Formats: sequence, structure tokens, C-alpha cells
Amino acid sequence: MTFSFSLHGIGVSQGVAIGRAHLVSHAMLEVSHYMIEPGQEQAEIHRLERAVQEVRYELKVLRAEMAAEDRFGEMEAFIDVHETLLNDEILTDNVKTYIAERGCNAEWALVQQLDTWVAQFEKFEDPYLRERKFDVMQIVERIVKRLMGRPGALPKSDDEAHMILVAHDLSPADLLQFKHHHFAAFVTDLGGATSHTAIVARGLGIPALVGARHARQLLRDGELVIVDGACGTVIVNPDHAILSEYRKLQQAQEARQEALKTLKRRRPRTRDGIEVSLLANIESSDDLDKVRASGAQGIGLFRSEFLYLNQETLPDEDMQFEAYRCVVEGMEGRPVTLRTLDLGSDKIRGGINSLARVAPNPAMGLRAIRLCFAEQPLFMTQLRAILRASAYGKIKMLVPMLSGGDEIRPLLAAVEEAKRRLDEEGVAFDRALEIGAMIEVPSAALTLGSFLKQLDFLSIGTNDLTQYLLAVDRTDEAVSHLYNPTHPAMLRLLSHILKRANQAEVPISLCGEMADDPKMTWLLLGLGLRQFSMPAAGLLAIKERVLSANVGVLQKAVARIVRVEEPEKIKALIEKLNRG
Ligand code: PEP
Ligand code: MG
Repeated sequence: MTFSFSLHGIGVSQGVAIGRAHLVSHAMLEVSHYMIEPGQEQAEIHRLERAVQEVRYELKVLRAEMAAEDRFGEMEAFIDVHETLLNDEILTDNVKTYIAERGCNAEWALVQQLDTWVAQFEKFEDPYLRERKFDVMQIVERIVKRLMGRPGALPKSDDEAHMILVAHDLSPADLLQFKHHHFAAFVTDLGGATSHTAIVARGLGIPALVGARHARQLLRDGELVIVDGACGTVIVNPDHAILSEYRKLQQAQEARQEALKTLKRRRPRTRDGIEVSLLANIESSDDLDKVRASGAQGIGLFRSEFLYLNQETLPDEDMQFEAYRCVVEGMEGRPVTLRTLDLGSDKIRGGINSLARVAPNPAMGLRAIRLCFAEQPLFMTQLRAILRASAYGKIKMLVPMLSGGDEIRPLLAAVEEAKRRLDEEGVAFDRALEIGAMIEVPSAALTLGSFLKQLDFLSIGTNDLTQYLLAVDRTDEAVSHLYNPTHPAMLRLLSHILKRANQAEVPISLCGEMADDPKMTWLLLGLGLRQFSMPAAGLLAIKERVLSANVGVLQKAVARIVRVEEPEKIKALIEKLNRG
């Protein structure tokens, strides 16, 4: 008997996906810990052995299926490693000791032993051996799932396209790993609309929902699920009528995506002849295909810190240089705005341990440029890599989280020092490399003069600007109802920033998620914005809005909206504006 029910969260990436739930297990969080009855030790050990046996069988079946379908490849190596681990007596010996001597239940014993293994693997010098800890984690997770009566379906690549990832939480680093798979959608219990996890999902162009609270607990592996990213709804075990409605909706959306493709080569110009630049946000060179398919005029934001995630050690200068060069060459002459390291609150989770210090309030702590000033060698390495790559195409350097003009001088001094060292070594770089600042801290927005005087360009980071101006943590779903980029205070600040920059004729873009929302395009055009940067997946929908805009009319209407003080009234006025 299956029950149909729905869950609600925050839709962070639009579209409809229909597929089977694939629960991302956090075995550590979920296993029950209890002492078994004295005398039951052997029975508990048998329970463990049975689960191990079942997992062995699971892998055997998978191997046979893959062989029959001639789909071996990376998967074979993966199954080999897992089978070897399972057959290793050492894997289970210590666990059995925990059960026999300490009376722990089998799941608890496994998880305790996992901690020891992970610590041992992390000590290996050889990166390949260190990586094997993930195999041990996965295999333990599979045994735990068996013990808990919830066997895990190991995704086969063909199935992934119809698989909906359901997790308690996913870090941006987790999501980057999923980039190489092709899931249909994802749902998490935690997270806010502009958390980096949500941003990566939008970049993937798949429907996504965060803040769904108990989804991970309520859903079962393999259940049929509809994810509606626009409404922020998950429907579990839908009945026939609902399913068929959503299939129609899905087809309509696919048709719309196809229609939008015809705009790829259209110049983004408004009806009254105002030229607009539409740029893309990327996290790595993996995103370049999507950028090219979107017809973006350049990269408006390359979040370089993603190179640092999922790494045990910091990427060295050569590795960074290669990554930047690959992007700049891939853009074939179009500009690449490369942001210096913005490691911060919601990005670091483990990984580069030395930097992952636990800050009392990480969003306001030692992040981004603050971390770079505090760790000069780290910053110098990146500056050198950026400068070296600038010899291979048009790079502009963007600096995050500057909070006032007094930080500009040390910034420029660090760049000069990097240039001096490269000169000494006879290494080529672009001498006219432009340097710009993210305007994302209210204090920077309110003291814009020094930025306009000393820097070449600006980019507004509305994700953080909203968070800091309204004092609403962008990653916390508990306060997501207060996170409002069209709050009257935000509109006034945006209007101020754009007016000042436009008067000073300093190029300014907006690269926060607001630029990716077609409902915001006319508002932003009316406020004076001419450069938008967003995930490539959303670019053509924004172009459609630009092509149908009349800036002269919008400016007048938006000037009136900026004077309004009630958030609800502003919402209504923006809706009216969008109706034309
Ligand atoms: C922003 O803050 O708006 C921004 C674009 O940067 P990030 O989302 O990476 O903090
Ligand atoms: Mg930011």
C-alpha cells in the first residue's frame, strides 16, 4: 500500500521532474545506538554477517546486469574495490569485537569502526589511497542500510536521469560531485534560497527544492516523486491524474526551453534600443558547454573557490593557472571575470582543514578577502595564477567582501607585488588587468566613492547584500520568509549603487541570484542595470525579458516603486510592472 502525500519547501531551481527517490544516506546521523541484551551477541554478529552477505549479492547482481548490458567502464573498477573491501576479514573483525565485547548493536559498532578507518585513510600520503576512504564509507553505508532494512539502490548511469536525490543536507562540495551524474532533481531538508548549494543546482539547470524539512525521513528509496521547482512542492506517490497533469506540464516546459533556444543569437537589446550585456556565472570549466550553448557574452562571475572544495590540499599555483587558462581559452576572446577566493560560511565543511576554522559566526568572520589578507601566501598564489592566465585571454579580477575603501590600498599593493615578482621571473601577464569589487556588504555600498575612484568595475552581490542588509542568514530555512531582495531597503540601496556607478561611468554588473529571476529583469533595468550575470541555464529566459522591455517606461514606474515602504505593496507593484 502506498500513500500519496506532498511536502513543501523553497523552490530554488525551476522546472518539473518526475522520477524515483534516491536517498543520500547519512548513515552516521541515522543509526540507532543501543546495547544488545546480554547473550544476544552471537545473534547480532549473525545479523551483521547476513547484511554483509546481502551486500555481496547486491554487487554480484549489479556486476552481472552491467556485463549483460555491456555497460562496464568506471563502474567495474568501482565494484571491484567494493567487493575487495567486503571480502576483507579485517573490515568486519573489529566490528564483531565491538559487538561481542561492548554489547553495541551492529549498526553502532560499524559506525564507530568507520571513524577509525576514515582517520587511518586520511593519514595516507598517497592521494589515491586517501580517496579510498570514500569507498569504505560507501560500503559501510550499504551494510548499514541493509541492517536497517533499507537496501540502497546503487544508481546505474542510465537510471540517474530519472532519479531524484533526497538528502538531509548537501554541501556545495557534495553537489559538485553530483555534477558528473545526471540526476533529474534534488530535494534537501535544510538550506535557503541563495545558499551555495541552491546556486550550484541552478547552474546544473535541474529542478531543486531546499528547506523541505523532513523529506529525507519521510521518503523511501525508489518511491515515485514529482518535484515542482517553481512551486517548491514535492508530491510523493502521485495518483494517475496528478501524474498525467505534471507530465503535460513537463512537456510544455520542454517545448518552452526549445523555443527559447531560438534567441541564442539575438543581440540583447531592449525595444527602445538600450544595449544590455548578459553574462554567465560559473564554478569551473565543466560549465563552459552550457555557457556556450546559452550565447553568453562572457563570464560575469567565476567562483574560483570551487576549485578548493573536495580537495585535501590547497590547489597550487600551476593547478590554478591551468584551470583559469582553460576557462579563458574556452571563452575564445570573450571576457572572464574571475573572482578571488571567497571561501566562507556555507562552503567549507571539512576538506581543506587548515582553513576550516570554526568561526562563531562564519558569514561575518574570516572569509573571502579577509581570509586572503590574513593568509598572504594563499592570496599571492592565487594572484600569480590569475595574472599568468591573463596572458591567454581577457581576464578581469573581481574581489569579494570588501567592506570599505581602506581595504583597497592593501589589495592593490598585493596585486602590484605579484606583478613585480612575475616581472622579475620574466613571466608574461596582462599589464592592464582590470580589478573590480563585489558590492555585497552594506558599508561598501554606502561608501561607494572610494571604490569608484580606485577600481575599474563593480559587481553587485545581491545574495550577500540582502543577507547583511536585512540580517537574514541566507542559508537558514527558518528565516527564509524574511529573505527578500526586493525589500524597500534593498531597492533603495540598489538604486543608490546603480545611480552612483552610472554617473561615474564605472561599469557595474549584478551577479547575485536576482539577475537570474525573470520577474526581476524589468525592475533591474528600470533601476539602471545594464549588465546581468547568472547561471547559463537561465540566460535565455532573461534575454526574452530584455528583448520585450521598454526602459524609458520602466524607469518612471520603478522610480515610483523605490519610494514605497511596504514590502507587500512593492511585491504587488512589481507584479503590475511585469504585466506591462
Ligand atoms: C552574492 O553574494 O550575491 C554573490 C554573487 O556571491 P556568492 O553568492 O558567491 O556569495
Ligand atoms: Mg557573495
